[in-house]
Amino acid sequence: MLRSGIVGDTQRAETRTTRPASGGLSVTAALPSIRPAGSQTLYCWPQVGCLQRLQVSYYLLKTGKKHYQRTFHLHSTDPAAELPTLHKNSQKTADQHDWSEVPNGTPSEDILQLWRDAEAVCFDVDSTLCQDESIDELARFLGVADAVAELTTRAMEGGMEFKEALAMRLDLMKPSEGDLKRYLLQHPPKITTGIPALVAELQSSGKAVFLISGGFRQIIDPIAEILEIPASHVYANRLLFNEDGDYAGFDETEFTCRSGGKPRAVARIKSEHAYSHMVMIGDGATDLEAKTQGAVELFIGYGGVAFRPKIAEAADWYVCSMQPLISALE
Ligand SMILES: [Mg+2]
Repeated sequence: MLRSGIVGDTQRAETRTTRPASGGLSVTAALPSIRPAGSQTLYCWPQVGCLQRLQVSYYLLKTGKKHYQRTFHLHSTDPAAELPTLHKNSQKTADQHDWSEVPNGTPSEDILQLWRDAEAVCFDVDSTLCQDESIDELARFLGVADAVAELTTRAMEGGMEFKEALAMRLDLMKPSEGDLKRYLLQHPPKITTGIPALVAELQSSGKAVFLISGGFRQIIDPIAEILEIPASHVYANRLLFNEDGDYAGFDETEFTCRSGGKPRAVARIKSEHAYSHMVMIGDGATDLEAKTQGAVELFIGYGGVAFRPKIAEAADWYVCSMQPLISALE
């Protein structure tokens, strides 16, 4: 048995080649889930194929039902080497497919008008503006990924207050100023495809762009700089260090260190700038709160990194790629 192959930035794909009783060679491959598909949904898992062919089944995440199937042909005798190409081709197929069964994947004229009328657009950062979760990545870098993940799960299951959960995770990580500098050097931001174009389009049409995150300013500020978003438009947590550069807690005056912090940050922005039309774009429940608590007029869910059916159903508009948002502004 042979195991090899890497597909995508962060997820591993595995291929197993086995020699079946019939004497031929077959391959079973696990590709990462297919991500965006226009304004709609996602994703595939390939099934068993022979060496020359690989059958890819596309499932709707919402229902878990198989949506359709396609067979891709392999051209070499090394399936592992071909997986990246296969992944790209099956992604393209997903992009071209009509996934209109996804809830709120097609915006009404009213929703499009709200989007075009926005004076300010707030983006979540982790799994929206960027393709990863910075606290998880930092924990991995510091060698405490499993312990932090376990704590995160316990905190979520137990309904722990965000601030308490943040404090506990940071106590496990204790990131020093030096750790953070090394982390930043070794982890260039994975900005979501389409974000630079979308942010530029919004700003050139006179809309203000804000970043609102439960992550850390020290990680987000460099990303804001790349996207030409002023540092004053970043609402996030701030890590504190003592004179020796050791971890010394976090700034408890930041909105986003507490549960319900995102809607409060949005409400502050709104009143400070006297905006009447604001939009929040994000992947998670804390982003949705900006709408349910009345801080924004429009909530756009993003499922390109993590597809969350409950968010899709509650969103005014649900996208798995930034392209429909750009197209709607043109
Ligand atoms: Mg997020």
